[in-house]
Amino acid sequence: MTQAIIGIGGNLGDRMTYLRRMIRALDDAECVRVSAVSHAYETEPWGVSDQSSYYNAAVRIETSLRADELLEVCKGIEEDLGRRRTVRFGPRTADLDILLFGDEEWVSERLTIPHPRMLERDFAVRPLLDVVGDLRMPDGSPVTDERVRIGRVLADLGPLEDPAADNVWVDEGEVRFVRAPFRSLEVDEHEVIGDWVAVGPPRLERGGSNSSTDFDLLWLEEVMNDAGVPTTFYPHRPGESLSSYPGVPTEVRLFVSRDRIADAYRALDEAVGEDPDAV
Ligand code: ATP
Ligand code: CA
Ligand code: CA
Repeated sequence: MTQAIIGIGGNLGDRMTYLRRMIRALDDAECVRVSAVSHAYETEPWGVSDQSSYYNAAVRIETSLRADELLEVCKGIEEDLGRRRTVRFGPRTADLDILLFGDEEWVSERLTIPHPRMLERDFAVRPLLDVVGDLRMPDGSPVTDERVRIGRVLADLGPLEDPAADNVWVDEGEVRFVRAPFRSLEVDEHEVIGDWVAVGPPRLERGGSNSSTDFDLLWLEEVMNDAGVPTTFYPHRPGESLSSYPGVPTEVRLFVSRDRIADAYRALDEAVGEDPDAV
């Protein structure tokens, strides 16, 4: 297994949707598993002027493919997502570049790794540092943003949600289960990747007097506790705000491990059945 970092981006069409599709397509590819995804960033176009801004992100994957095989996967995804090769550096819906591939170095006409221009690109380095804090180049030097000079980040667009998640609505109560397949979560020093399932409303806005959603999650936690299904809050328990900006929406999620999800559904069905007004 090799850990690789893929830089993704595009500046045509619904850019956020394209980012999500690229991530999903990577995760769906044989022998590739997405293990972390950066925030999405809006970045300055460069190269060919007169194009709209880009959305960029970085994806950490674990793969048993060779780098050249991975390149084929990336090109296949670009093709599937309708990229038309016109001008180099010109506008595109989907661009997937292999930035790093373990500590391997490749130099050929088709493939150069590390990506030769990554360190000068804010749009590559910033998301990359999101997914792996202290990352090294094959020569052992750290990846830093010291040399960035093009493709400046204009805005942090926040985490990428999975639009294709299997949202399951239970009863009328609008409790939903959301798969969170490519979040990288450090919970109790245990890295939870993809194998966990979020339980509860996907987006909880806290701050102000909005405590009903907190209550919903705490109620769900109790239901799971009663059913003996272990749960974990991420990033913190409801109400324990980490944000110093009141009113800024933050998310709190309750997770159960995937191997217990059937039990979780059952417990929730029962609880909702007993008390339809509970949620
Ligand atoms: P840049 O590579 O500077 O970001 P680009 O992404 O616009 O430019 P493309 O037209 O997408 O360029 O790719 C041109 C070729 O680059 C690809 O066909 C591919 O074979 C080659 N290539 C070399 N190294 C890599 C790499 N690390 N990741 C992806 N493609 C690479
Ligand atoms: Ca590129
Ligand atoms: Ca490319």
